[in-house]
Amino acid sequence: MSSKIEELARSNVRALTPYQSARRLGGTGDVWLNANEYPLAVPFELSQQTLNRYPECQPALVIERYAAYAGLDTDQVLVCRGADEGIELLIRAFCEPGKDAVLFCPPTYGMYSVSAETIGVEYRTVEAREDWQLNLPAIADQLDGVKVVYICSPNNPTGNLVNPDDIRQLLEMTRGKALVVADEAYIDFCPQASLTGWLKEYPHLVILRTLSKAFALAGLRCGFTLANAEVIALLMKVIAPYPLSTPVADIAAQALSAEGIAVMQRHVSELIATRDKLIADLRQCGCVEQVFPSETNYVLARFTASSQVFKTLWDRGIILRDQNKQPGLSGCLRITIGTREECDRVISALKTLPVASDFREQA
Ligand code: PMP
Repeated sequence: MSSKIEELARSNVRALTPYQSARRLGGTGDVWLNANEYPLAVPFELSQQTLNRYPECQPALVIERYAAYAGLDTDQVLVCRGADEGIELLIRAFCEPGKDAVLFCPPTYGMYSVSAETIGVEYRTVEAREDWQLNLPAIADQLDGVKVVYICSPNNPTGNLVNPDDIRQLLEMTRGKALVVADEAYIDFCPQASLTGWLKEYPHLVILRTLSKAFALAGLRCGFTLANAEVIALLMKVIAPYPLSTPVADIAAQALSAEGIAVMQRHVSELIATRDKLIADLRQCGCVEQVFPSETNYVLARFTASSQVFKTLWDRGIILRDQNKQPGLSGCLRITIGTREECDRVISALKTLPVASDFREQA
């Protein structure tokens, strides 16, 4: 019996392909290198047990501590359910469905399009140049009706920073017309590159942050939107009444204590050493064509026969992220930096594969 429920749904939702998150893609591995998570759990204990009461909408201690960490005022910080919620709140507050548009530059993070589609807002794409920097003239041509431009820096999945002079030009181009949202989900791995210092010059700059990466708290679901007070006040109109549960706020505050930040910074320097070793080791593997530099906790590499590489590693319980379908990324796989041992397992598995030229002959 066919139910008519599907027909009741909004047409854009019926047409929607949901975001293929690493968790949804599944797999049965024991080396998870497909979601850019920190490889080890940091222990926490709950200190708040009063779950009969609703939580604060914007828990003051979390806001205070993040503002201090980012060098901003408390009215420039909004805490939400991961940076993903920040992406969506911006569209909900600034884009009229059927009228306004958002713009972003593939290859990049997949949630900008999914959030726009879910809300019924048009999205436009301007592919990055071959060096993965912004194609500013092409962006300028597409800006009509655009209210939000997402720039991911460092970019997922390519790992590079977007040239700050280009972001400045984009900010000049969009002044009074659109928001420029710098997605800094991975900025704690290269904090010197943050644009937070620019907020006083640009009322339309917004920055997204998260505790999911360097802070090792992807399971917590806690992120931040940083902007001038006027933007934050508008986002506060559309945010859920209680976006963070009491345990989330409790753990986030601990992670943002002086001790929590020191632990995170130690993890970042260890991870960078592991990343640099993995990059050097990958460059020694015959099946690897190219390894791209990275400012983040993942590395993108191009393989001659990436689907065989992906499957061989999958069969050995090592789960990577296939980026073949993104524009300009044919043959590319993204590898999250795991522990030293996990990275060594990747390299041993790759060493068993034929070298690039043998693969090419087979293809
Ligand atoms: N932006 C980018 C570039 C990301 O890679 C991710 C997570 N994969 C997010 C935002 C969302 O992060 P969160 O876990 O805070 O929702």
